[in-house]
Amino acid sequence: MVKSVTIVGGGTAGWMAASYLKAAFGDRLSVTLVESRRVPTIGVGEATFSTVRHFFDYLGLTEAEWMPSCSATYKLAIRFENWRAPGHHFYHPFERLRSVDGFPLTDWWLRNGPTGHFDKDSFLIASLCDANKSPRSLDGLLFEAPQEHKETRKRTTLSDQITQFPYAYHFDAALLASFLAKYAMARGVRRIQDDVLDVLLDEHGWIASIATREHGRLSSDLYVDCTGFRSILLNEALAEPFKSYQDTLPNDRAVTLRVPVPPSVEGLRPYTTATAMESGWIWTIPLRGRIGTGYVYASDYCDPEDAEQALRSFVGPACDGLEASHIGMRIGRSRNSWVKNCVAIGLSSGFVEPLESTGIFFIQHGIEQLVKHFPADGWRPETIASYNRAVAHCMDGVREFLVLHYRGAARADNAYWRDTKTRRIPDSLAERVEQWKVKPPDSQSVYPYYHGFEAYSYVAMLLGLGGIPLRAPAALELMDCAAAHREFTLVAETADRLLRNLPTQYEYFQRN
Ligand code: FAD
Repeated sequence: MVKSVTIVGGGTAGWMAASYLKAAFGDRLSVTLVESRRVPTIGVGEATFSTVRHFFDYLGLTEAEWMPSCSATYKLAIRFENWRAPGHHFYHPFERLRSVDGFPLTDWWLRNGPTGHFDKDSFLIASLCDANKSPRSLDGLLFEAPQEHKETRKRTTLSDQITQFPYAYHFDAALLASFLAKYAMARGVRRIQDDVLDVLLDEHGWIASIATREHGRLSSDLYVDCTGFRSILLNEALAEPFKSYQDTLPNDRAVTLRVPVPPSVEGLRPYTTATAMESGWIWTIPLRGRIGTGYVYASDYCDPEDAEQALRSFVGPACDGLEASHIGMRIGRSRNSWVKNCVAIGLSSGFVEPLESTGIFFIQHGIEQLVKHFPADGWRPETIASYNRAVAHCMDGVREFLVLHYRGAARADNAYWRDTKTRRIPDSLAERVEQWKVKPPDSQSVYPYYHGFEAYSYVAMLLGLGGIPLRAPAALELMDCAAAHREFTLVAETADRLLRNLPTQYEYFQRN
């Protein structure tokens, strides 16, 4: 019976895991979290994916309870700038596509869209982003998005895909970790601030205990490795191999800045921006009172000094005097994230660059899977294998989707961007791309295992990036497009009404 868990690491992964395990199992599970005072957390990870809403719901937290403490804002989309050509932009929104006569609206758009902008013609969220709108009216009601965007106070998980949410959040990672630490400790999690110096194995190679600097040896039934890129339990002590994705994804470093900016209508944008650069891309994440920004780049094409300079020029005078932080990124995943009595969650398990904000999504997915596979009645190899399959599929799927961003971007104006067109792509993706050239992505033709992204995301990215041309399904030539035109008109009329009625995000947070 597994009755006790020790989590090593007090970053976003550690505290999310501690909170979730307590929300799931309460006092029936004893949870200890050990975090070093000397080893800093990674200090980034501030844009999220729309499923994160389920995490807070599961903890029983309303937005009013956690958002203000974490400087959080709404994120309706990612705005991609300059990926096709300088000056071009498009949105990848958190909004499922409407369908007409069995075909998604973007198929009809390819046949005969009303304007040259697939995102505004097909999704409401693109218009809301352009106008810096909040997804909620001043009285707190969620905007009228299509179909499954229903609010629920039930404890939902990623398996309940029906409750996909039309937005995610930006938040201050350090504030979130402190908030969750309070939440978890109030529910009985024991926090130990100390360094883990050694991991001791028993005669079967299972973790017997961890040796700390000041608290001696600590032991429990299960260990959760949340030690970040170091992965001191899984990759170091248990020597589980790490499979790099670097052959398919070029970026391996980042330089970041935290820039104080007074809140304003223009500043509180309800989206993350990903701006393509000479050797990578820059993220811009608006929080209440500052932006988080960073240049993710490939060290084969750019050195850290040039990257920092490029980031500073991009931000402008607001970053004068601010210290930048340089980060080496370990891109890939552990062969298995659960080995013996150790489960790695967070950067210790795996990571792909943050282009689609999936780091925290991986954490959430890992924790949910751990709860679903929890070895309450003992260790079964099948349970562990099933967990490992789910985690591997999820990360491999996101890797495929990110590779598509580079392969699909029309931009090929220098050695870095040309490299992204000739670099290896996973075989399965190469096959899919050929298929998508004759029939846009649908649920049957995208990566088949759960990885968070649905067909509409692939369609939005391919239409926006412009390097892999899509064509409308031939059948539409023989179909009456009157209903599709009515739907395009409905999207435009609904967007106009929302623009009139919704407050800006800035106005919303002035009152809420
Ligand atoms: P860390 O934050 O590194 O925490 C590790 C913890 O382990 C710390 O508490 C440390 O003290 C502790 N520790 C280490 N060694 C010891 C020891 N010997 N003894 C005791 N304690 C120890 N994700 C997103 O979802 N959205 C984003 O926008 C995003 N942007 C990112 C940008 C970059 C450049 C990078 C690199 C990552 C980004 N991520 C993003 C990923 C995200 O930052 C991480 O998934 C998240 O912060 C979780 O990190 P962690 O808790 O696994 O590791």
